[in-house]
Amino acid sequence: MCCGRELTDEQQEYCVQCRLHPMSFQRNFAVWEYDKWMKKSIADFKYNGRKEYAEFYIRHMVQLFGTYLLRYGIEAFVPVPISDKRRRGRGYNQAELLADGLAKRMGIPSVRLLNRGRDTLPQNGLSPEERKRNLKDSFLWNEAEAKSMTRLPQTVALVDDIFTTGTTMELCTKVLQANGILSVYGICISIGIG
Ligand SMILES: [Zn+2]
Repeated sequence: MCCGRELTDEQQEYCVQCRLHPMSFQRNFAVWEYDKWMKKSIADFKYNGRKEYAEFYIRHMVQLFGTYLLRYGIEAFVPVPISDKRRRGRGYNQAELLADGLAKRMGIPSVRLLNRGRDTLPQNGLSPEERKRNLKDSFLWNEAEAKSMTRLPQTVALVDDIFTTGTTMELCTKVLQANGILSVYGICISIGIG
């Protein structure tokens, strides 16, 4: 009921991580577990130019979660930003492809309300404290985009490719909430098995 991870115990609504560390976002939706097949698929999508995979992912996202997103009153999709350096390297931000595709299919706008701040180190091998420090200020509110809108949405869905520990989504949610967004949901292709 929070991160979207599949649970083995049907009586439980929250996984261990979500019970220990409650998140600021309402709920995340993930289509597939991040197994070896998804690992290959998403790596090709992100690093090997297979932009066309977005269509396939989006179709499943909408089929599985479209009605939830409508029921929860999502007014906009917000892609998780990547650094300019990474975008230059890849030629695109995979989260934007997904958010724009979802927007088109569902008739809900896709808005860049977040910018990427300073570049971060890889998170592997860092302690929880170091991780937090590393990611501090890595997501910033995009005031220009907000100003260009006639009205700020109250409820949005963050869009990303993979949900691993939830740190990225948590940080993005905090920035959105600090700037007047009331409820934040998440939708992604794949979630770490945990
Ligand atoms: Zn959870």
